[in-house]
Amino acid sequence: MTTKVVFFTGGVLSSVGKGVTAAAIGRLLKARGFTITIQKLDPYLNVDPGTLSPYQHGEVFVLDDGSETDLDLGHYERMCDLRLNKNSTVTTGQVYQEVLDRERRGDYLGGTIQVIPHITNEIKRRIALVGKSTNAEIALVEVGGTVGDIEGQPFLEAIREMRNELGRNNTAFVHLTWLPYLKATGELKTKPTQHSVRELRSIGIFPDMIIARSDYPVEMELCTKIAQFCDVPREAVIPLVTSNLLYQIPLILEDMHVAEILLSRLDLAPKQAPDLDAWRWMVNELEREKPKVRIGLVGKYVELHDAYISVREALRHAALYAGVDVEIEWISATDLEKGIGLERLEQVDGIVVPGGFGSRGVEGKIIAAKYAREHQVPYLGLCLGMQVMVIEYARNVLGMEDANSPEFDQRTRHPVIDLMAEQRGLEDKGGTMRLGLYPCVVQPGTLAARLYQTERIEERHRHRYEVNNAYRQALEEHGLIMSGLSPDGILVEMAEVRDHPFMIGCQFHPEFLSRPTSPHPLFSGFIKAVCQRRKLSVAVQLPENLSGKED
Ligand code: GLN
Repeated sequence: MTTKVVFFTGGVLSSVGKGVTAAAIGRLLKARGFTITIQKLDPYLNVDPGTLSPYQHGEVFVLDDGSETDLDLGHYERMCDLRLNKNSTVTTGQVYQEVLDRERRGDYLGGTIQVIPHITNEIKRRIALVGKSTNAEIALVEVGGTVGDIEGQPFLEAIREMRNELGRNNTAFVHLTWLPYLKATGELKTKPTQHSVRELRSIGIFPDMIIARSDYPVEMELCTKIAQFCDVPREAVIPLVTSNLLYQIPLILEDMHVAEILLSRLDLAPKQAPDLDAWRWMVNELEREKPKVRIGLVGKYVELHDAYISVREALRHAALYAGVDVEIEWISATDLEKGIGLERLEQVDGIVVPGGFGSRGVEGKIIAAKYAREHQVPYLGLCLGMQVMVIEYARNVLGMEDANSPEFDQRTRHPVIDLMAEQRGLEDKGGTMRLGLYPCVVQPGTLAARLYQTERIEERHRHRYEVNNAYRQALEEHGLIMSGLSPDGILVEMAEVRDHPFMIGCQFHPEFLSRPTSPHPLFSGFIKAVCQRRKLSVAVQLPENLSGKED
C-alpha cells in the first residue's frame, strides 16, 4: 500500500500555527475512517530539541520511545489521539549525522557526498519510513520554518521530488500563510502570500490549498484574489482566523470542507461520514460559561507559556471533564525566591510545579511546595515538582535543613534527591537522560491507587535525578508515602503526603499523555481536589460515544 502524503509548508511568517493546522486536518481525516500518521521536519541543525532552551523553542515534548521532540508533536498527539515514535520527528542534524556516519563507514564507495542527492535522499527515506512503519493510509508531513529559509531548501527539494515519485494523486501540498492587517487603511493584505507562493513555485512546488491565517475576518473577495494570483481553485483558499480555542480549529476547517477537498485531490473517497460528535461536544463544553478555578503554575519560564504547553493543556482537559474552567496564574519561581509575589500563592486554589532543570528558581518552587503542604492546598508536582516536594519535606518535616539535590547544591549533606547510578560519569548532554515510557507499580491503599484505579501504569520520563533510597525509610516514617515504584522496587516514581487532601508528585510527565478526549487521572484528581476545596459541586454529562480511549 502506498501511503499518500499531505505536505504542509509555511510562508510569510513562522509561528502562525502550521502544526496545529496540520494536526486539525489529521483529526478530520481520521474522523472519516482513515489511518493517519504525522511527521515534523525541522530544518535546524540540532539533532533534537532536547538540548535547546525553552526560551528558544518552547517545551520539549517526549514520546513513548524517549524521543525528545518539538512541541508540535504534542499538538499532533493530542489533536489526533495518536502515540507517535521517533520516525515522526526529523531534523537537519539527524539527516546529516546519518549521512556522515555512512560516509565514514565507506558506504558511498568513494562518491562525492552532496546535498542533492544524498541529503535529499535521506530526507525522502525518512518521509517514506513514517508511512511504512505505521501502515498509515495518509501521512501528514509538516516542513518547519518558512519558504525562503536557507536551511529549509533541502526539505523543499525533497518533497518536490516526491510528487513525481509518488504520483500526483498520492501527494497534496498545503501552504499556510499570513495576511497582515494594515491599520492605516483598515485592510488585510495578500501580497506577502502571493510572494511566498511565487517563491514556492520557483522551487517547483505548486500548492493545492492555501490556508490564509489572519487575526481579522477575511472577506470573500480576498480569497478570490488569492486564488487568482496563486493559481489555486477558489474553494481551496481557506481563511483561518485566529481562535483562542485550539480544539475549535478542526471544526472551523470542517465547515470549509478542507478534508473533502484534500481527499478528492488524493483520489480517495471518505470511508464514513465524519465522526465528530464527541469533538463537537468537547468544544461546546469548553466554550460554555463555567465556574472558574485558579491554578498557580510555578515555573521559571512563566513569561513564555509555550514552555509549559502540555501542562496547560492537561489542566484544561481535566477541568473540562470536571465541569469547570481553569485560569492559570503564572507565578515566577525566581520572584518567589526573592520574596516577590508570595501573596499570589494565597490567591490560587491549587498549585502545580512543573518540570525544570538547573538551580535558578528552585528555592522559589520549594517555597511553593511548603505553602501547599502547610495550608492544605492541592499540589501536583511534575518531575522536578516532585523532587522539590521531597526536598521541602526533608528540610521542614524531617529537620534536614540543607536537604537538596546535587543538581542545585553539590555540597549538600542530605542529597535526598540524587543522580541515578546510570547517569554517573555521563558527559554527553543530548539524549542521555532517562527518557520515554517506563512501567510503574502503584502501591495499594494510596491516593495514587485511587486515582489510577489500576496497579501497573506506564508513563513518559525525562530526568537524570531521582529520590535517594538512603532517605526513603525516614521520609516514609514521617508521612511521605512512596506511592509509585519501578517494578523492581528500586526507583521512586510517585510520592504523596499522607496528611494532606492532595499533595502528590511524580517523577514522570503525565502531561504528555493527557488528551482532550481522555484527561489524565493525576490531573483529573488534582482538579477534583481543587473543586472540593472550593466546595464546588459540578458534574458533566458525557455523551455516550465519547469513548475516552486512545487508539
Ligand atoms: N532536573 C531534574 C532531573 O534531571 C528534573 C527533570 C525534569 O523536571 N524533567 O532529574
